[in-house]
Amino acid sequence: MADPKGFMTTPRQDWPRRPVGERVRDWDEVYVPGKLLPIISKQADRCMDCGIPFCHDACPLGNLIPEWNDLVSREDWRAAADRLHATNNFPEFTGRLCPAPCESGCVLAINQPAVTIKNVEVAIADRAWELGFAPPRPPERLSGRTVAVIGSGPTGLAAAQQLTRAGHTVAVYEKDDRIGGLMRYGIPAFKMEKHHLEQRIEQMRAEGTKFRTSTAIGRDIGAVELRARYDAVVIATGATAWRELDVPGRELAGVHQAMEYLPPANRVCEGDLEVSPLSAAGKHVVIIGGGDTGADCLGTAVREGAASVTQLDIYAQPGAERDEDTDPWPTYPKIYRLSAAHEEAGELGSAPAADADARLFAASTLRLTGDADGQVRRLHLVEVDASRRPVADSGRTLPADLVLLALGFSGPDRGDGLIEQLGLELEPRGTIARDAGFATNAPGVFAAGDAARGQSLIVWAIAEGRAVAAAVDRHLTGSSRLPAPIGPYDRPMTV
Ligand SMILES: Cc1cc2nc3c(=O)[nH]c(=O)nc-3n(C[C@H](O)[C@H](O)[C@H](O)COP(=O)(O)OP(=O)(O)OC[C@H]3O[C@@H](n4cnc5c(N)ncnc54)[C@H](O)[C@@H]3O)c2cc1C
Ligand code: SF4
Repeated sequence: MADPKGFMTTPRQDWPRRPVGERVRDWDEVYVPGKLLPIISKQADRCMDCGIPFCHDACPLGNLIPEWNDLVSREDWRAAADRLHATNNFPEFTGRLCPAPCESGCVLAINQPAVTIKNVEVAIADRAWELGFAPPRPPERLSGRTVAVIGSGPTGLAAAQQLTRAGHTVAVYEKDDRIGGLMRYGIPAFKMEKHHLEQRIEQMRAEGTKFRTSTAIGRDIGAVELRARYDAVVIATGATAWRELDVPGRELAGVHQAMEYLPPANRVCEGDLEVSPLSAAGKHVVIIGGGDTGADCLGTAVREGAASVTQLDIYAQPGAERDEDTDPWPTYPKIYRLSAAHEEAGELGSAPAADADARLFAASTLRLTGDADGQVRRLHLVEVDASRRPVADSGRTLPADLVLLALGFSGPDRGDGLIEQLGLELEPRGTIARDAGFATNAPGVFAAGDAARGQSLIVWAIAEGRAVAAAVDRHLTGSSRLPAPIGPYDRPMTV
């Protein structure tokens, strides 16, 4: 804490976003390049270096936040990068994508705006790459043990990096043609440009991790055969079995799942496609689902040139302030948040029928109707109360040529047969069951990330990857010095 009065003298200042009119014409990240570094040391100086830093507890990685705030306030980037990487393999991912439960838990947030922890994190991560403080760290000795990691999302990548650095020979199997999981084909480039992924993958290759893309375990290689080839297997296949919308008209053309719509849009950015086959250009788009996946569809549809975009949320609009009874500090509160995509849609007037930021709250879809060719044309909805009962005389319709379903995910995708081939036990909600040491009922097979926890966040996925790596290392060698930031049953802080 270079300035003990920093929190009293310096107001919170965020990394400014580019003007809406400029950023919706490209797919680059929404922030103004070069505008974070000049402000970030003063922002880090707002940290009070609390005796009990709740920010640290609110982060599943146990990030050493007060330490790196102090180092950034002194502009000691090398030491800050060391402390940041001590608990997080991929801070450039979380610094861009995390909803920052650490900031909700910040002690300063009790009565004034929290420290900009996420911006401090991304500033350190980017400086570390620029200044060469994130070199490959190959192991000094190989253990002679082999591990297959199935799935290359943040869980699989974190597990693979930890195990490679511990000296094991690790191969990551990925059914897509590129590495990255949902960070590659789900999350749009305007939230995180893909060169951040490439940079880490190159680092991991240089450390010795092997990558095998376009290889679905269960389909291209049998899961039992894979198990026999390796000393241990980590399943990190995510939870992408999507929820369905059970209303009349679901079968009409133009009604798609968010994860059918987002991947081709990402492939346009990768240069694989000229135009997405599901492009929203010129269409009236309605997104059903008020979460982040829906917001990603919104930002994508706006950039594709939709005629209008409306996002429906079944929940009532939350308040601007946390409810101290249901969401007291330091929990992550349900409050009204304006993502970059909502700001864009609001400013551009993308949804004339909706409130200022393109969302319709407390809206429940009744049915979809189409034209003579079976193409969806209108969405019929009704306003609902807190018990989801329709409000009288609240029915209305919206024009809809493209309807995107962003209703969440129910568990791991079963299409490849991996779960059946290994005879894996499942939890009642469909996720892969595991014991306190991340082990499944199949000997030598471990499960981590969304596949076992259910849809979560990048920060939890990295924590899962680090923790399962420690468990696998112990299984292979009898003990482990790798950190295990969470247990399989840990959950975010609630009341
Ligand atoms: C659209 C969208 C946006 C999101 N935005 C955010 C955000 O901004 N911030 C945030 O914190 N979280 C976000 N999330 C959640 C976050 O992306 C996930 O929690 C996280 O990616 C889970 O990591 P994972 O490694 O467990 O699984 P995934 O990222 O899903 O990766 C699993 C990988 O396994 C592969 N795979 C599956 N089966 C097989 C098989 N049989 N053989 C080989 N490979 C296989 C898949 O192809 C995939 O690449 C978002 C989720 C979605 C859907
Ligand atoms: S809780 Fe906030 S003020 Fe306290 S140490 Fe963490 S970041 Fe600093």
